[in-house]
Amino acid sequence: MTERLYRDDPYLLEFEARVVSRREHEGRPAVVLDRTAFYAESGGQPWDTGTIGGVPVVAVLENGEDVLHVLATPLAAERVGGRVDAERRRDHREQHHGQHLLSRAFVQVARAPTVSFHLGAEQSTIDLDRGVTSEQVRDAETLANEVVWEARPVAVRTVSRAEALALGLTPPAEAGDAVRLVEAADFDRQPCGGTHPRSTAEVGMVIVLGHERYKGGSRVRFVCGHRALSVVRARNVVLERLGTLFSSPPEGLPDAATRALESLAEANRRGAELLERALDGEARRLLAEAGGGLVAALYDGWPAADLRSLALRLVALAPCVALLGSRSDKAQLVFAQSEGLGHDIPALLRAAVLTVGGRGGGKGNLAQGGGDRPDRLDEALAAATAAIRGRA
Ligand SMILES: [Zn+2]
Repeated sequence: MTERLYRDDPYLLEFEARVVSRREHEGRPAVVLDRTAFYAESGGQPWDTGTIGGVPVVAVLENGEDVLHVLATPLAAERVGGRVDAERRRDHREQHHGQHLLSRAFVQVARAPTVSFHLGAEQSTIDLDRGVTSEQVRDAETLANEVVWEARPVAVRTVSRAEALALGLTPPAEAGDAVRLVEAADFDRQPCGGTHPRSTAEVGMVIVLGHERYKGGSRVRFVCGHRALSVVRARNVVLERLGTLFSSPPEGLPDAATRALESLAEANRRGAELLERALDGEARRLLAEAGGGLVAALYDGWPAADLRSLALRLVALAPCVALLGSRSDKAQLVFAQSEGLGHDIPALLRAAVLTVGGRGGGKGNLAQGGGDRPDRLDEALAAATAAIRGRA
């Protein structure tokens, strides 16, 4: 059985211990010590990291009465010194105690008990047994922070199961007859094996990042302490960047973004209108130039969609065959004919796309395709033109 030093002193980071057992866990070496300050993952709180005898600790797991320390490399020594990563421990104290305060606040504000807690790498979550409104979330967040700012002492004591039940608590079965209670003075008391600060003030701040419906209840995402500062800083960076882009202070950003989107929609509408006009003008110019019958044209860098619009416009304006191409790093081809003309447009296109090294298809009066030999577009259009003229 490992003596769990963190239970009495969650600030203890360095300790001496004896290796009592050497094991293996999922292919990695692992040791059990007679005593440890390393917290083993449980109750939603992840394990501590650090070193034992200078060897990095990669996981710490409950193993019955023992605490199993999974190591990066084997450890030879009998007597070892352990060192717990201070920053991670502090972070877990902040997040876990913040969770206790927020969970209690939800009971007070919304009669919503917490059914599970997860302390994540970036944010933590609590799952409540019922839905909550945004207003209740704000109220619970405010209440939790008031308790933080009141700097209430946090105490840990162990009571019997009967005493715990008499206090109206429901200790988990694995707690046995020695139930560890964590209490934030005159606010919250709950059975918990985690590492907590001496004062609620150490939580610094509780920030709820969001909440959503989850499994018939709700899930609340939050950060506390140093993480809260990091989140605010990261969001400030985003706001500053947006502020520069929109030339606006943060509070003006929603309006500035709305105006920008409206103006973009207007520009798109205007762009589409101008494109229509340009295509119409181009179609009339081509028909006048060709004198009707057969129109062939090659453009630089036109998107296939514009080529297609132009072809449809041409065949609608006058009885004709339109053979259009566009070259960029690829070759694009669109062939079309007016209703009532009898050319095999899909066959013509298939032959042309073979020339430009690609594929394409269509049926009836419209076909399109492309290839990766734009240098052969002239040849392809000339052959298609000759085929139409030969048949005509
Ligand atoms: Zn807890």
